[in-house]
Amino acid sequence: MEADLKRIYRLAQRREKDNRNFLRWLKYRHSWTKRQVMALQQELSERVWAEIDCRDCGNCCAGMQLQLTGHDCAQVAKALGMTTDEFNKQYTEKHGDGYWYLREQPCSFQKNLMCTIYEDRPSRCSGFPYLDMPILDDMAGTLDKVLYCPIVFNVVEEMKAHPDLRRQKRRKRYRRRSDE
Ligand code: SF4
Ligand code: SF4
Repeated sequence: MEADLKRIYRLAQRREKDNRNFLRWLKYRHSWTKRQVMALQQELSERVWAEIDCRDCGNCCAGMQLQLTGHDCAQVAKALGMTTDEFNKQYTEKHGDGYWYLREQPCSFQKNLMCTIYEDRPSRCSGFPYLDMPILDDMAGTLDKVLYCPIVFNVVEEMKAHPDLRRQKRRKRYRRRSDE
C-alpha cells in the first residue's frame, strides 16, 4: 500500500488519464451493477482505512477550503468558547451558496497535522473522503482526491488491480479487437 504523500501525488499525476479512463469504463461499460461496485468500494475502503493513518497526512485539512453549515459554525464556536457571531466574524465568510467558508487555508484548527477541535469538527471533515458515497458519482472529485488523499489513491489502485475487473477489461479489449 502506498503511503508516501509525494510519491502518491507524482503517481496520481502520471496516472491521471488512466484513472479517468478506468472510472469511465467502470461507470459506463462494465457489466457489474452499481451495487456490486459499491460493495467492492466499501470492502476496499475498510481495508485501506485500517492501514493508512490520517495523523501522518493531514492533506485534506491543509488543502480544502472548509465549508460549514450554520450548525457547524454554532458547534465549533461553542467548542472555542465563542458566540456564533464572534466565530463567524473571526474565522469565516459567507458565500452566495448559503454556506460559510473558513477564511484560512490550511484550516485554522490544524496544528502539527492534528485537528484541535476533533470532537466538534464540522460534518464535511468527519465524512471525508466520503467513501460511503459511490466514487463514480463524482468522478472529477475522485480524480482530485486521488492526488492528495492516500486512502482514495489506494482504493482506486486496488479497484484497478481487482482480478474480476481486470479480467472483464481484458475480455472487452479482446472483443473490441476481434470486432475490428
Ligand atoms: S482523509 Fe485522506 S487526505 Fe485526509 S488526512 Fe486522511 S488520508 Fe489524509
Ligand atoms: S476542522 Fe479539523 S478536521 Fe476539519 S479541516 Fe480543520 S483541522 Fe481538519
